[in-house]
Amino acid sequence: MTPEEVSGYRSALAVKVSGFDVPRPIRNFEELSFDTLLMGAIAKQGYEKPTPIQCQALPVALSGRDIIGIAKTGSGKTAAFVFPMIVHILDQDEIEKGQGPIGVVCAPTRELAQQIYTETKKFTKPYGIRVSGIFGGMSKFEQFKEVKAGCEIVIATPGRLIDMIKMKALTMLKATYLVLDEADRMFDLGFEPQIRSIVGQIRPDRQTLLFSATMPRKVERLAREVLSDPVRITVGEVGSANEDITQVVAVLPSDEEKLPWLLNRLPELVDEGDVLVFAATKVKVEEIENRLREKGFKVAALHGDKDQASRMDVLQKFKSGVYHVLVATDVAARGLDIKSIKAVVNFDIAKDMDSHVHRIGRTGRAGDKEGVAYTLIIQKEARFAGELVNSLIAAGQNVPAELADLAMKVSFPFFVWTIYHRGVIY
Ligand code: AMP
Repeated sequence: MTPEEVSGYRSALAVKVSGFDVPRPIRNFEELSFDTLLMGAIAKQGYEKPTPIQCQALPVALSGRDIIGIAKTGSGKTAAFVFPMIVHILDQDEIEKGQGPIGVVCAPTRELAQQIYTETKKFTKPYGIRVSGIFGGMSKFEQFKEVKAGCEIVIATPGRLIDMIKMKALTMLKATYLVLDEADRMFDLGFEPQIRSIVGQIRPDRQTLLFSATMPRKVERLAREVLSDPVRITVGEVGSANEDITQVVAVLPSDEEKLPWLLNRLPELVDEGDVLVFAATKVKVEEIENRLREKGFKVAALHGDKDQASRMDVLQKFKSGVYHVLVATDVAARGLDIKSIKAVVNFDIAKDMDSHVHRIGRTGRAGDKEGVAYTLIIQKEARFAGELVNSLIAAGQNVPAELADLAMKVSFPFFVWTIYHRGVIY
């Protein structure tokens, strides 16, 4: 491709890059010259063509460069760091017992780590590359034994990884490929010291890939400190909502109308596919779960007070169709990748726009255009309404008149302020 073709192709993919001498994007998986085992595994998963983040991040990561990847949830970023990790590992000497790992992936929550683990295994299996999942809730002893026996890749939550390092189950001496996934969420959950400690134990000439849905200043600072000469790849607008997801906003007078709204709409939503309902607190989650169960819905709940075994059990049953509705708090549902979710209901609004974008990203996975996100907003939440209007406009969605009215309640004084000050300035 000529430089003009490259820039045309990048705009078609909605990919922006910055950095020194950025490798060109690929148009198909064949251009990567992977061996037949990896190509076979990719075909087996039914991946016909690379997603935009994969088109640009794969050639960059395969060239050995560090990456800052800013991509919407569900963009296919896991494969974008897993394929190059496999190639990287195949280039290294074999791991002896007590050595390893070579590839280290850190993720904010158990659920996300579990998902990355499952996705990674699909592609490492043909090579016999050993992958260990190191996350809380499972027996430390079993994990210790598995890791100690040797493994090429660990997929970990930061806290448990540090525990394992302290227990001398593993050393970072051979680690040369580090992935920090959902870095913004890891910071939100207070893992910054743990991340810094892990990074500090890995040799500086490693390859580092940092992925994040948003780039708050503190993540930017970490990226500057731990990456060398990175290529920055942004897919879509930073922190914006996925345009493939249809957003519907219902403005209700007060909290009391929310449950009747849900009970009224739920039968039709369940007919279309699985439904994920977000509520603000554990108490609310359980209350909604109970009310829906009373009405005969096959419903389960997910929140931080449940232990790992029962969370896994709930997810498993939701995936296999035992439950059709899952009610959850933000933390519990972070990073969930369940293809059958066709609707997300924000029973309570998210604490900020970032969380809203993460929440609605639980539907519409990998370009599925049928996802719908419903947001219930009440009169006293005018402040959030303004942000929601902006986000809907940016994602090319309809803005209901009631929502615009609600937003005006807070933005009108700002509007007056702007006119006044402009008047002064000009
Ligand atoms: P991720 O953003 O990595 O969580 O990926 C979201 C979903 O997209 C996962 O279910 C992947 O299995 C799927 N996926 C990743 N890459 C592709 C691809 N090239 N074609 C189709 N599906 C994909």
